[in-house]
Amino acid sequence: MNKLTINGEIDVAIVGGGPIGIETAIAFKQQGVRSILFEAAQIGEAISRWPPNTHFFSTPEHVALAGVPVQTLDQRPISGEEYLAYMRMLVEYFDIDLHNYEPVTGVDRDEGGFIVHTHKRGEERRYRARYVVFCTGGMAGPRKLGIPGEDLPHVTHYFPGPHAYFRTRLLVVGGKNSALESALRCWRAGSQVALSYRHSDFQWDVVKPHLAGDLKTRLEKDEIHFYPSTIPVEITNDAVFLAPTEDGVTPNGRITRHETDFVLLATGFQADQSLLRAAGIELTGADEVPVFNPNTMETNVPGIFVAGTAAGGTQAKFKLFISTTHAHVGKIVYAVTGHAPEKLGSVPARDSAVSWEEVKAN
Ligand SMILES: Cc1cc2nc3c(=O)[nH]c(=O)nc-3n(C[C@H](O)[C@H](O)[C@H](O)COP(=O)(O)OP(=O)(O)OC[C@H]3O[C@@H](n4cnc5c(N)ncnc54)[C@H](O)[C@@H]3O)c2cc1C
Repeated sequence: MNKLTINGEIDVAIVGGGPIGIETAIAFKQQGVRSILFEAAQIGEAISRWPPNTHFFSTPEHVALAGVPVQTLDQRPISGEEYLAYMRMLVEYFDIDLHNYEPVTGVDRDEGGFIVHTHKRGEERRYRARYVVFCTGGMAGPRKLGIPGEDLPHVTHYFPGPHAYFRTRLLVVGGKNSALESALRCWRAGSQVALSYRHSDFQWDVVKPHLAGDLKTRLEKDEIHFYPSTIPVEITNDAVFLAPTEDGVTPNGRITRHETDFVLLATGFQADQSLLRAAGIELTGADEVPVFNPNTMETNVPGIFVAGTAAGGTQAKFKLFISTTHAHVGKIVYAVTGHAPEKLGSVPARDSAVSWEEVKAN
């Protein structure tokens, strides 16, 4: 019989080195709990895919981790690049046991806990952990449209920054903050920009006010051309075919051919919850929201917790982001150790604040 090789014995395996995975690792470290932070790629992988020089919408105090202030030169929201540097600093300062470029590939129940399977440079590894915390995020990959031409080289779901589109024609598909910001940045950088959105108008009361004001002016002056209530049905080397739609989903009516050099599909991202499902966690609805106790963040599998945006699955409307999920960390650390963590992000989450008395009572 094959003897099971165990590469490490730990109290907690934290899966995912995004902001909330790092905050969880720090909180456990401060309680003297042995944990490993597993990251499939590099810490902050989701943020490292942001276009260059993109700033958070949230103000610095909302994205501070473990109570360590985020300071910016102008007190405005921090950029993605600066935040990655801040995250590196936290991992160094708190001496987090980070296993980067080591994706977790499976979690099996074992006597007294779990066996966590990983891959490192082509080699399979196993760790024994008493608890597992999934902080795997909710933006694993783009929400694909499934139309012909979507995979052509001049079509992307990831905005590379405006420089690529200087003196070219760009069609941006989408109507949320990312689409609007990309369209405005590219127009300002010297691109001829058009916007296609599946609804008749933007949700002006929901999009960021500075983007809304700017875009309204550009549309009034037709500096950015707008195709309302349209969806792309096919992309070719030099054009996008846009169909009218009434319900935002079904093409219905006469198709317009829009000539363009590049296409940015800012149609959102979706979670990959396959690892959670394989671990026995029940997922609900089309968004694949894991089942968990909101007071402790423990899932239907005792000993496995979920934190950060992974707790929301693929969020159609964003309710979970960094500032609203700091509280997850405290609940998990309290559920595992019986002690409240020293500090979390400087702003407590509004929608999920639970007193330690309530957590204890559960
Ligand atoms: C342009 C843009 C602007 C944004 N602005 C804001 C903002 O202003 N405020 C805000 O709060 N949020 C903002 N967000 C969203 C923000 O990025 C997320 O809220 C945040 O990253 C969520 O943190 P997280 O730790 O839950 O997950 P993530 O940051 O998604 O981290 C999950 C990590 O898990 C890793 N992982 C996944 N599977 C595995 C596995 N099997 N094994 C090991 N590791 C794994 C991934 O590689 C990733 O590093 C913005 C997003 C975009 C795109």
